Amino acid sequence: MRFSRLLIPTTKETPSDATLASHIYLIRGGFIQSVGGSGLYNYLPLGKKVLDKVRAVVKEELDKAGCQEVSLSFVTPASLWQESGRFEKYGKELLRFKDRKNNDFVLGPTHEEMMVNMVRQTVKSYKQLPLHLYQINLKFRDEIRPRFGLMRGREFLMKDSYSFDVSYEAMKKEFDRMEETYKKIFTRLGLEFRVVEADSGAIGGSGSKEFMVLADSGEDTIVVCDNCDYGANIEAAIRQEKASPTEVPEAVFSKFYTPDTKTIEALSAFFHVDPYYLVKTVAKKALYDEGKSAIVLFALRGSDTLQEVKACNAVDANDLVDITEEELLAAGLVPGYMGPTMAPEAVRVVYDNNMKEATSMICGANEEGYHLVGNSFKGLDADYHDLVAVQEGDLCACCVSPLRYTKGIEAGHIFQLGTQYSEPLGAMFLDENGKAQPMVMGTYGIGVSRLLAAIIEQNHDDKGCIWTKASAPFDLQIIISNIKDEAQVALGEKLYASMLELGVDVLLDDRKDRFGAKMKDYELLGVPHAVVIGKKLSDGLVEFVTRDGMLKDEVSAEQIEALLKERF
Ligand code: ATP
Ligand code: MG
Repeated sequence: MRFSRLLIPTTKETPSDATLASHIYLIRGGFIQSVGGSGLYNYLPLGKKVLDKVRAVVKEELDKAGCQEVSLSFVTPASLWQESGRFEKYGKELLRFKDRKNNDFVLGPTHEEMMVNMVRQTVKSYKQLPLHLYQINLKFRDEIRPRFGLMRGREFLMKDSYSFDVSYEAMKKEFDRMEETYKKIFTRLGLEFRVVEADSGAIGGSGSKEFMVLADSGEDTIVVCDNCDYGANIEAAIRQEKASPTEVPEAVFSKFYTPDTKTIEALSAFFHVDPYYLVKTVAKKALYDEGKSAIVLFALRGSDTLQEVKACNAVDANDLVDITEEELLAAGLVPGYMGPTMAPEAVRVVYDNNMKEATSMICGANEEGYHLVGNSFKGLDADYHDLVAVQEGDLCACCVSPLRYTKGIEAGHIFQLGTQYSEPLGAMFLDENGKAQPMVMGTYGIGVSRLLAAIIEQNHDDKGCIWTKASAPFDLQIIISNIKDEAQVALGEKLYASMLELGVDVLLDDRKDRFGAKMKDYELLGVPHAVVIGKKLSDGLVEFVTRDGMLKDEVSAEQIEALLKERF
């Protein structure tokens, strides 16, 4: 293609809301355009080209794995979501609206219901299974904070696929096969990534894994072990149980006057006791369907930190939110002095697993200025869950080596669903004995548009994008420095024609602009290689440029065509 004819509105101006390199360069490079500044984007020709290249890699690997592409309606009837029970549960990210006949609809944020609906109408027998269907289509999530450009948009492109099997065993095999397929996709795209254990979120099911593109700017904290291959999203990470510090603060059970000791630090200093022996009591408001809510106290060791996603899952809530002092007082709780044992009966208490059988613990007396010492939880029949956020330096549950944090961008997520959707929606098949059984499902997502951002987060410098081979908008850019120089133009045109003939995706910069501006655009757009035809052509030389590192090799003008032919 000819640069002079393309709509590539590059700009020097950094968008005011952009902080991430990918957001800045995708806009500055004229790949995408923000619409109204709220997580909606238009793709300009170059952005669409990259999107299609990424999409093609995803499609090729899925097709090879035997998945079949379909396309489902983006607007989906709310009745399906009511059947699955997710209409209320999904929360405000689900955009709900009515048509002119007052029927409820949603814009699909994910398509489990729709795909199950398609399959339940067409698949009746075990003979038609297994089945794996996918689509690469728009999704809409009314994100509370759309940001970082394509990273977290409201409308975005997702590859979502769904497997239907006759048994859990078969589904598990398909899940493992998809893990391998995803690895191929991310490897082909030239990404450095890690597969980690994950929380299943609003999709549900048991056992899920995320594909994290490693980047400091990633929104997800992942816990990794350098000794073994354990890796998990902090929302799901586990650790070896912590050993107790040596001195146990033994005391007989009693109430202690502890004025102005409302924090773990203050309490630890007051009693000269390690926070391991203090109970941290965190109050949250849990939100449920139909506007219902409940106050919950989460009790964990003072040396630990509450992981909110784990806490939310523990009480099966749609969300957990902070609670005001007034609300605490109204519920009979004393801020700064709360404790799990003296909480009013109406308040639900959830204990962390590490509190099981704990002794010599100090906790709030739920009375202004008082704590209870010498608490024992031995034999306590309570609601125990894993509530803890694993910290750096905690020990790996697999190999007892220290764990560390790293940052990742969630680019894919695969779930073992089971019958969570097939049962309520009645996706049944007749097994070999003629007995009706619910299909066993898996669901698998890839953030196709997010991948554009992830690729750039991992591959850029201070000048612009450095696209990977499989994702680049062009394979090669030919830059004619001075369009008025006939010899330069002649060579440029000749190379361009010969590359087109070879089927190389080539961009010819044939604009009238200054050479400096053309090079700046080259650096910004990030095409992997360029041939620069400049002043030195009079000495019989041109430059072959590699974008990664801006490496420049002088090549004889006579040999460049042969070199390019060999290379591409
Ligand atoms: P996140 O935790 O980042 O909000 P999620 O866990 O809600 O994502 P999934 O339901 O697992 O997302 O969706 C599958 C994939 O779709 C994700 O792995 C991610 O790559 C992509 N994705 C999700 N939300 C967005 C978004 N707002 N913008 C772009 N891509 C998204
Ligand atoms: Mg996810």
